[in-house]
Amino acid sequence: MWFRDDLRLADNPALMAATNDGGVVAVYILDEESEGLRPLGGAARWWLHQVLTGPRADLEDRDIQLVLRRGPAATVLSTLMKELEPESIYWNRRYWEPERAVDAAVKENSRAAGVHAESFQASLLHEPWKVTTGQGGQYRVFTPFWNQLKKLDFRHPLEAPPARDNSSDPHPEEDIPTVESDDLAGWKLVPPGSAWSEKLAAHWSPGEAAAWQLLEEFTEEAMADYEEGHDFPGIAGTSRLSPYLRWGHISPFQLWHALSDRPGPSSVGSAAFLRQLGWREFCWHQLFHHPELARANLRRAFDGFDWRWPAEQGSTTPAGLRGSHPPPPAEQAASQEPVDAWKAGTTGVPMVDAGMRELWETGWMHNRVRMLVASFLTKNMGVHWQVGEQWFWETLVDADQASNPANWQWVAGSGADASPFFRIFNPQTQAKRFDAAGRYVSSWVPDATLPGYPEPIEDLAESRRRALADYDRIKKT
Ligand SMILES: Cc1cc2nc3c(=O)[nH]c(=O)nc-3n(C[C@H](O)[C@H](O)[C@H](O)COP(=O)(O)OP(=O)(O)OC[C@H]3O[C@@H](n4cnc5c(N)ncnc54)[C@H](O)[C@@H]3O)c2cc1C
Repeated sequence: MWFRDDLRLADNPALMAATNDGGVVAVYILDEESEGLRPLGGAARWWLHQVLTGPRADLEDRDIQLVLRRGPAATVLSTLMKELEPESIYWNRRYWEPERAVDAAVKENSRAAGVHAESFQASLLHEPWKVTTGQGGQYRVFTPFWNQLKKLDFRHPLEAPPARDNSSDPHPEEDIPTVESDDLAGWKLVPPGSAWSEKLAAHWSPGEAAAWQLLEEFTEEAMADYEEGHDFPGIAGTSRLSPYLRWGHISPFQLWHALSDRPGPSSVGSAAFLRQLGWREFCWHQLFHHPELARANLRRAFDGFDWRWPAEQGSTTPAGLRGSHPPPPAEQAASQEPVDAWKAGTTGVPMVDAGMRELWETGWMHNRVRMLVASFLTKNMGVHWQVGEQWFWETLVDADQASNPANWQWVAGSGADASPFFRIFNPQTQAKRFDAAGRYVSSWVPDATLPGYPEPIEDLAESRRRALADYDRIKKT
């Protein structure tokens, strides 16, 4: 069983198939070498480290050894197949083109080695190629996509494979070969003594059990008011399940079946929540059809937009991304300082600073505030959305291959079903509306009212006028 972003026992069709076959060896591969894959950001590396260090009792109860290996997955698995001589190899499907290419190579190698290879659908309610318009094409607008998706049928979640029955079969593990596993410390996922790691650990417990605990808290305390409450960052109005979905500790099938057809008042909240799951699917639909989602504007008219890159990144795109754009002309280079202020939460705009500090402290940010800080960077500061997308990729525990770039493009105006460019969030108005009592801002920016708090780095009205004028120019080209 090859685990990837599906680190759970329940509703894991690949694991179930492997278990039904008999003895199972599970493998997790840290693949930073196969062509085109995006290296994990820092917060994601921390999360992965916690999951792989965490107690393995659940696997041990099923006599499953978890083998850790590092390297290009196709090569690693070919080696493992020689060591283990399995009858079959199973995994759950991935949908991004470079990952699909790796999986296709593994399938080919397995077949050549006489090993049965089989993959399953587990992380999306529907395969992206199965949700199509009447003409058989992809959806570019969310609402018709959602209406179509809701109509399609999908499976019920699966139970976890049964744990060993000690009474009937005391030593089944003797039949299963064991192989060498990497020492996790050697992967250096987390820098030793990192203060940032300690901060993240104060906010998150990665793993399947914590996901179910959060779901229970959400359904009991927040779901009934979710439709309204999910917009207010100062209250616990959302589920915080995003990293658990990202890592597959809980599946969309499990959430759907736990929350749909709720009776009474909570039905409005659960329907609104499931619609958000629909946005997750829509983002993956986009990535499936546009593998360059993190690197190229979906609306190509935006290729001519005067977005700026911080000077230090100069004529290149942010670290880790191979840009599809030509180097920007010198006059487009933005100074590094304001971008650093944005990252550090010292822009002098309290609502923006609150979001950016929440992100740095916890590895997560409330959705409404993600929209605000992204609008501030791309529109008021005029900085390319990829700069912000890369910072989120580094710092979010839920950093997701599809949801992150799709949402950045949505805010920037260059994406599918995008927020129109002229909708420039005013962080002050938004704060009045969604944080009227100042609870959110005061918890993250207690210094906002103190002397020494910086003056705003952008004049909101003037920068809005500038952004609209820039947008008018591309509309005319
Ligand atoms: C600029 C920007 C970047 C983002 N980057 C990511 C990212 O890297 N990873 C990520 O999971 N989400 C991302 N989002 C979407 C959204 O902000 C988070 O999913 C949400 O804040 C997670 O909190 P929650 O689990 O409490 O959400 P809830 O409100 O409880 O929603 C339930 C689930 O629905 C999904 N969801 C909700 N809103 C969205 C959305 N707009 N797009 C896609 N899925 C959604 C998530 O899986 C979420 O866990 C981004 C949004 C913006 C504006």
